[in-house]
Amino acid sequence: MAVATTLSVDAWLLHEEAWLAPYAMSAQKSRGRRHPEPPHSYRGPFQRDRERIVHSSAFRRMTGKTQVLVASVNDHHRTRLTHTLEVTQVARTVARRLRLNEDLTEAIALAHDIGHPPFGHAGEQALDDCLAAFGGFNHNLYGLRRVDELEERYPEFPGLNLTYEIREAFVGHSRLRSGPEYEEFATAGAPLLEAQLVDVVDSIAYDTHDIDDALGLGFISLDELNEVELWATTADRVRHRHPGLSGHAFRTAVVRELLARQVTDLIEDTVRRWDQFPIRNGDDVRLATEPLVGLSSELENQKLALEHFLRERVYRHHRVLRMTANGKRILRALFAEYISAPELLPERHLRRWAGADRVAGYRSGSPLPGRQQIPELERVVGDYLAGMTDRFAQQEYRRLFYPSIDL
Ligand code: MG
Repeated sequence: MAVATTLSVDAWLLHEEAWLAPYAMSAQKSRGRRHPEPPHSYRGPFQRDRERIVHSSAFRRMTGKTQVLVASVNDHHRTRLTHTLEVTQVARTVARRLRLNEDLTEAIALAHDIGHPPFGHAGEQALDDCLAAFGGFNHNLYGLRRVDELEERYPEFPGLNLTYEIREAFVGHSRLRSGPEYEEFATAGAPLLEAQLVDVVDSIAYDTHDIDDALGLGFISLDELNEVELWATTADRVRHRHPGLSGHAFRTAVVRELLARQVTDLIEDTVRRWDQFPIRNGDDVRLATEPLVGLSSELENQKLALEHFLRERVYRHHRVLRMTANGKRILRALFAEYISAPELLPERHLRRWAGADRVAGYRSGSPLPGRQQIPELERVVGDYLAGMTDRFAQQEYRRLFYPSIDL
């Protein structure tokens, strides 16, 4: 992509040249944007992308979206947004330590969950069922559509017009290797180190904070966790360092140590991998056949046992299941109602549908330039629902199905 030649003002360029490891992704080598734009006078391309993501409406709505627990349960547990911020800061720390591109790492991390529908994985399952005959629903592909098409902020182009490398991470994250969305990225090769890093840090972050939230809400006890090796050995370290610590102070100390232990292991094992399979430059990264960023096999195994515990004792806890069943019911009901009565859709969503003109009362405005009309009503409704927060979906359900004066 085009780069301004006046190096004296391109601080980001000087910084990249002086700081990045040769195998880090340099913005100068980016495959660029779908709609070409002139370079900014003092912000690099990945820096601009990071800021566009933070300014997007999908980013703000993560405040009100479920991570594991419905966002309105209380004010302490993680939401999709606080999870994202935890992933971002850990990923940035590791990126700096490994001399990877921090701007790119941050942008990928900030965007990685932007396509999650309300009510977490339960919401995704519900939408996938509703859209089964229309290609299903996948939060990564929705995230990509969101940043490519659905965000409306800039008059010059649809979406956020992000660089290829950040868009590629959505497809890589979904582990999809076929389908129309993948075609554009089929020639990219193995994922960039920055994308691999965010992927690993995502799972370190949720394993750790889901344990913390589950303890905080009383879904599990410290005694139960002693059967999990990773927790028990980490708790021993804390007891050794702070004898006599108990209750909340003990819990937070172990959670902190658990995170630090995984992050340190991640850095050490990643450096070991890079020594073992020498990577000299970006081409070596793209040609790699093994993951180049990851935890040691010992810690990975302990982490798998922790995840098994989380699945059995937290994600299937009756209070969690009750919330998720409720969320699914809400999305299914809203979906069916909008399909049978599209005139209930807000006009800016309705106009994406090719059949909008047939709806009584529709004032046909021309679609915004460059935005493609999607013919199936089902996809339009699915996209509308996926963009909702938990609370908005709950309110909409009440507005549609309960006698109320609320408009
Ligand atoms: Mg995540």
